[in-house]
Amino acid sequence: MTTFAELGLSPKILAAVEAAGYTTPTPIQAGAIPQALERKDVLGIAQTGTGKTASFVLPMLHLLEKGRARARMPRTLILEPTRELAAQVEENFVKYGVNHRINVALLIGGVSFDEQERKLERGADVLIATPGRLLDHFERGKLLLTGVEILVIDEADRMLDMGFIPDIERICKLIPFTRQTLFFSATMPAEITKLTEQFLHSPARVEVAKASTTAKTVTQRLVKSAKKPWDKRAVLRDLIQAEGDDLKNAIIFCNRKMDVSELFRSLVKHGFNAGALHGDMDQRARMTMLSNFKDGNLQLLVASDVAARGLDIPDVSHVFNYDIPIHAEDYVHRIGRTGRAGRSGKAFSIITGADTKYLDAIEKMIGEKIEWLDGDLSTLPAQEETEETGRRGRNNRGKNGKKSRDKDHKEKQAQPRVAEEKTAEAPQAVADISALNAPQPVLPDNVSIGTAVTAEPVRPAPHKNGHEDRRQNHNQNGQQNKRHRRDFDDEPSPLGFGDDIPAFMLIPINI
Ligand code: AMP
Repeated sequence: MTTFAELGLSPKILAAVEAAGYTTPTPIQAGAIPQALERKDVLGIAQTGTGKTASFVLPMLHLLEKGRARARMPRTLILEPTRELAAQVEENFVKYGVNHRINVALLIGGVSFDEQERKLERGADVLIATPGRLLDHFERGKLLLTGVEILVIDEADRMLDMGFIPDIERICKLIPFTRQTLFFSATMPAEITKLTEQFLHSPARVEVAKASTTAKTVTQRLVKSAKKPWDKRAVLRDLIQAEGDDLKNAIIFCNRKMDVSELFRSLVKHGFNAGALHGDMDQRARMTMLSNFKDGNLQLLVASDVAARGLDIPDVSHVFNYDIPIHAEDYVHRIGRTGRAGRSGKAFSIITGADTKYLDAIEKMIGEKIEWLDGDLSTLPAQEETEETGRRGRNNRGKNGKKSRDKDHKEKQAQPRVAEEKTAEAPQAVADISALNAPQPVLPDNVSIGTAVTAEPVRPAPHKNGHEDRRQNHNQNGQQNKRHRRDFDDEPSPLGFGDDIPAFMLIPINI
């Protein structure tokens, strides 16, 4: 087995790797690092979780040991599809670069240009950027790309999903032809192959995991459920509880942003230590939520696919698919959040009768049948019966029974959507988040304190990757009111004001 010392890295880097606690290079590191040190272009086909970040960060540090950065002329450039991934790569430079004096600048959206410009002005050895923000700086004349010696394109297939390929092509043409290019992608669709043919020069191809496979260290199980949200939530709660102490922390995936908020509120209401992450949250709120999860202050993170893309959260013990993903490849990405770097993990997917075609596509893609935890859908009690149970649960909400519920429903339909979000559940969620002993997340301007950080802003934010928004729009076609009725939850009657929130409590307060 190869050791780090055999890869040809400098003593300073070997010391940092040792301090990080890594003894053996992962296959992508063993394959890519020696090639990169020889100044060859590299085409790395590897999923997140394989240690691929270090496979470009370590050789970059080695090559940066000679020479100095000049103002506005970064020496190396790393392109990442999302802000979180860019921030994660920066953390890797902090970890592996403890023995180096290098300037790292992060150019991501959602933060002020001024600070970023100051960093560029000081001279950056490493520039980590999302394509859009990089081009913004370039167009403002604050950045020269003619000094870039190494270009890293990471998560290329995600870039493709997010519509960044034209930006990537443009950036590649702005950087000298003589540069070294290190290119990483989990899968190789035709568009990506074309890109590599255009911009890589005789690359060394290092492939570590077959595309579209899930790690062998992850135990995958399917769990049957009736279709209604309250049924699915009950199944999820039972699963979480059954895992007991084995569940260190978990990411729970929903297909829609709206469901992220709704599930998060329900979990908090049931006393779980949960947070939420979705594409409409503002950057700082996302970062705070993420660091609380990474630090162990939050045990459960409810997330949408776009928000969670490529996040490196070491030691995630469990992944739950509250919704089975519509796109089979999302299943592989989601499951990839656990069982990283050889650790073991568990992934549970909740399946209803409406999900079988998506499940079939997933099983076809990963080339294996996933086992059922406790009998397949045929062992589910008749749908009628389950719905009846749900109705009975909701009927317990008050003596007035049907009449008051109907009135409640009509009133709620008459209210604007923003008021609907500010239900009695929200203040409780805020109380729970503030108890995390962490800095208070910054709320988007249009979100008041009563909506908690996860509430859906009224304005759907434009998103480069249309997936999330498309799903959201689809959902708004008639289902929105239905899904936000609080009587979906089989929970005890609320205390205090109950369903009737006084108007003064709905006045937005900006923090
Ligand atoms: P990545 O694929 O770069 O997102 O890395 C996945 C996780 O593996 C990160 O938490 C790394 O810190 C960790 N890791 C990277 N290299 C090694 C290694 N050689 N041995 C053990 N863990 C590693």
